[in-house]
Amino acid sequence: CGIFAYMNYRVPKTRKEIFETLIRGLQRLEYRGYDSAGVAIDGNNHEVKERHIHLVKKKGKVKALDEELYKQDSMDLKVEFETHFGIAHTRWATHGVPNVVNSHPQRSDKDNEFVVIHNGIITNYKDLRKFLESKGYEFESETDTETIAKLIKYVFDNRETEDITFSTLVERVIQQLEGAFALVFKSIHYPGEAVATRRGSPLLIGVRSKYKLSTEQIPVLYRTCDIENVKNICKTRLKRLDSSTCLHAVGDKAVEFFFASDASAIIEHTNRVIFLEDDDIAAVADGKLSIHRVKRSASDDPSRAIQTLQ
Ligand code: GLU
Repeated sequence: CGIFAYMNYRVPKTRKEIFETLIRGLQRLEYRGYDSAGVAIDGNNHEVKERHIHLVKKKGKVKALDEELYKQDSMDLKVEFETHFGIAHTRWATHGVPNVVNSHPQRSDKDNEFVVIHNGIITNYKDLRKFLESKGYEFESETDTETIAKLIKYVFDNRETEDITFSTLVERVIQQLEGAFALVFKSIHYPGEAVATRRGSPLLIGVRSKYKLSTEQIPVLYRTCDIENVKNICKTRLKRLDSSTCLHAVGDKAVEFFFASDASAIIEHTNRVIFLEDDDIAAVADGKLSIHRVKRSASDDPSRAIQTLQ
């Protein structure tokens, strides 16, 4: 099972190039094992007000998904995106048989308002699902992951302010989750933005830019590092300050971000990587990556945790 996601910010890429990057990322993770694969990308109608997220999923090999991508009639391969965020996943089923509906990305609703890819297992998904169903959210898959997609929509639908950030939504979601996860989210409500988080399952972010990267707010642990040195850095890992950190290409310049389950999918693009730690939330908005650590809710009782959502 593997996660790969790619954001180009002010680096024009055709849809074909985006497909190739996503598929190549998945192929690099193939050795981890999987039974199905899928991607979420922006639809053609990005010029219209209402954004559209397009899902393509396939049981079996990454190669089968690759072929399926090029069969999509609505997908113009030459269309160019100055900024785009695409997410891709290979699944190793834990809850629900390997089929198209159960494969990832999982979605919040039929309009694909929120989509998510997940590696790991959510142990309290039954309670969460029961709660969400009681609120009228309809499920289509047998996966534990779908509860995450529905939960973020629930938090969004019940937001108290209009300007709630994507990372705040994710923060509220992971405070309800028990188990292991690496997650990457994409949403039509936050075009050009990405949010990733993890607990127990691995996730790292690669950063590539021709421009100098500003890391001035980043504490020692989160300085970018060469992959060659990763082992050393892991050994000397310092306790991180409990503050938000920020990284961006100086002057808001072009930058690309790669999210992956392991470095083998990133190394061909860049050797500057950031390893996320448990309960970190990494968000990219306007080409800036910021990372902060979430405090977990004190309660381990899911029914009590769910209460805090209402
Ligand atoms: N538990 C999730 C599922 O069965 C994710 C599995 C994985 O890590 O690929 O869909």
